[in-house]
Amino acid sequence: LARLRGRLSKSNNVLGKGLLALLTRERIDQDVWDEIEDTLLMADLGTDASLELVENLQKRVRIEGTQDPAHVKAMLREELLKLVDPTMDRSINSVGAPGKPAVVLVVGVNGVGKTTTVGKLARVLVAEDKDVLLGAADTFRAAAADQLETWGARVGVATVRSEQEGADPASVAFDAVQAGVDQESDVVLIDTAGRLQNKAGLMDQLGKIKRVVTKAAEVDEVLLVIDATTGQNGMTQAKVFAEAVNITGIVLTKLDGTAKGGIVVAIQRALGVPVKLIGLGEGPDDLAPFDAEQFVDALLD
Ligand code: GDP
Repeated sequence: LARLRGRLSKSNNVLGKGLLALLTRERIDQDVWDEIEDTLLMADLGTDASLELVENLQKRVRIEGTQDPAHVKAMLREELLKLVDPTMDRSINSVGAPGKPAVVLVVGVNGVGKTTTVGKLARVLVAEDKDVLLGAADTFRAAAADQLETWGARVGVATVRSEQEGADPASVAFDAVQAGVDQESDVVLIDTAGRLQNKAGLMDQLGKIKRVVTKAAEVDEVLLVIDATTGQNGMTQAKVFAEAVNITGIVLTKLDGTAKGGIVVAIQRALGVPVKLIGLGEGPDDLAPFDAEQFVDALLD
């Protein structure tokens, strides 16, 4: 929690400090409510959620007849937590069908941090004593497989790849999962290509990977990686991916580099899928499970 606080609050205290300053005004009048809403919007919470939060908070302030800053802050925390939704299941499905490895597809646009996330996640799973295998299904960029292999070596797991640039991504993904079955691996993590073509192309590519992989083992988890610093643009991309493939969880990367942590709320609402992991830096240990309570506390710190 201390690490999360440190990483987030450096950049994210805009929200916390901004709201606190507003709440300690002598009177919370309509101007203050408008400013609170603006602050939430600036933190990328999205229009719906910002409005909902302000309305709920206004209602409670009225009903409870208090403008005491500490009390209002506590209510704000509760309302924010409701929006982040602590009841969502955020566990990574890392147990496969009997006798099969768990298969995790990692998808998202180029540059959002897919390969890095696969490397970090492999490290987390290895630390849990899992036998992990990586699959380099991003065959469009020559350097992509090398980068994944470097991460693999760093965390001590093998990478299945094709030496041929432009090889069929689905066939590499299949080879990786089949190798995982043969070697009795616990988890196979598949890094996919992030070229954002049109929706039809993306659907074809991800659909084929999923279909072909399923011949060896079921896909247990499809993680969509989103760069938290890209705001609304990232949201638009996320929706395209969500229409192309059935996403089971979101990894929100680069939260260490943004003041806009509210994007968590906006994305979950837009996709109806939980944020499961967050990226807080470029190093191997900079991946954390998403915890709603801790996150809200860090936002308001
Ligand atoms: P991919 O194209 O989606 O596979 O993206 P990469 O994994 O190659 O990452 C793109 C860049 O983002 C690299 O320079 C990473 O080090 C960096 N990166 C990835 N995750 C994070 C994160 O959580 N925080 C920060 N600050 N940088 C990150």
